[in-house]
Amino acid sequence: RAKEQGRNQICSYKQEMDEAVRRRLALEHDLRLGLERNELVLYYQPQWSPHSHTTVGVEALVRWRRGDRMVSPAEFIPLAEETGLILELDDWVVRTACAQAKAWQEANLPRMTVSVNLSARQFKNGRCIELIREVLQQSELEPELLKVEVTESLVMQNAEDALMTMQQLRQLGVGLSMDDFGTGYSSLSYLKRFPFQQLKIDKSFVDNVVGDREGAAIVQAVIGLGKTLGIQIVAEGVETMAQYNYLTLAGCDLIQGYFFSPPLPVDACTTFLQQDHNWNPKLR
Ligand code: C2E
Ligand code: MG
Ligand code: MG
Ligand code: MG
Repeated sequence: RAKEQGRNQICSYKQEMDEAVRRRLALEHDLRLGLERNELVLYYQPQWSPHSHTTVGVEALVRWRRGDRMVSPAEFIPLAEETGLILELDDWVVRTACAQAKAWQEANLPRMTVSVNLSARQFKNGRCIELIREVLQQSELEPELLKVEVTESLVMQNAEDALMTMQQLRQLGVGLSMDDFGTGYSSLSYLKRFPFQQLKIDKSFVDNVVGDREGAAIVQAVIGLGKTLGIQIVAEGVETMAQYNYLTLAGCDLIQGYFFSPPLPVDACTTFLQQDHNWNPKLR
């Protein structure tokens, strides 16, 4: 009896595994097709300067229009990274974002940077250098208007290679931003070694700036560090007026988050950018 039960359990375990593998293969197949069929979409999230009271940049964030559903990158970026599809995906993202930034410039919108997220794989093999060089040439976007975001953990995985890629990107004139700062394990001395111009405080810290003395102290220290090193500090995932006020007072350079605006489809973002000089946090 026990033996039979055991066998049944093994059976159902195997079925679950098969099912997971099958789902994964189907997702991979669909994502490959999705790339070919132009099902990927870029949303753009504005970054607000409390100092100049303008939007000074946008971050491009990818979505996948799969049937009638908008799939979030958290659901397909990891798979794309495992299968290597990420190279194609990041290619497309960089091309699309730069072309869009150029189009906004030609439509006489205020000068703005566009940030793209690059995956570890794209970054590691130095492939992104050729890609970005080519895209900048094609799009005729000023290199200074493109920012590449890499996560702290990516940088730490292979610090020497990462440093080399970064130096090459800097030579192209592109900006470098450290994403999700505080979630990895880099020591502060690393910050000085790497040629970042921008550092993004992870949302998990922003969540704690109000009503948590330690949380507030950490963010304040990071902002102070940014000032000392001459690095621009961006707060990610700012959702409330209280957070906005705190961060602004603490000297944070840029604010990004739902409080100001969620990531927007391109048309909505264009409208937003045309109107944003009227935006006033006090009126919300
Ligand atoms: P990330 O680069 O740290 O992007 C910030 C994420 O926080 C975005 O999620 C954004 O929609 C979300 N967010 C912004 N403001 C708020 C807020 O106020 N509250 C909350 N709860 N969330 C906010 P998203 O778009 O789902 O992207 C998740 C991650 O996927 C990104 O994190 C990035 O690591 C990756 N990703 C997105 N687009 C790309 C891409 O084109 N290429 C690559 N390689 N990775 C991408
Ligand atoms: Mg990012
Ligand atoms: Mg981030
Ligand atoms: Mg993140």
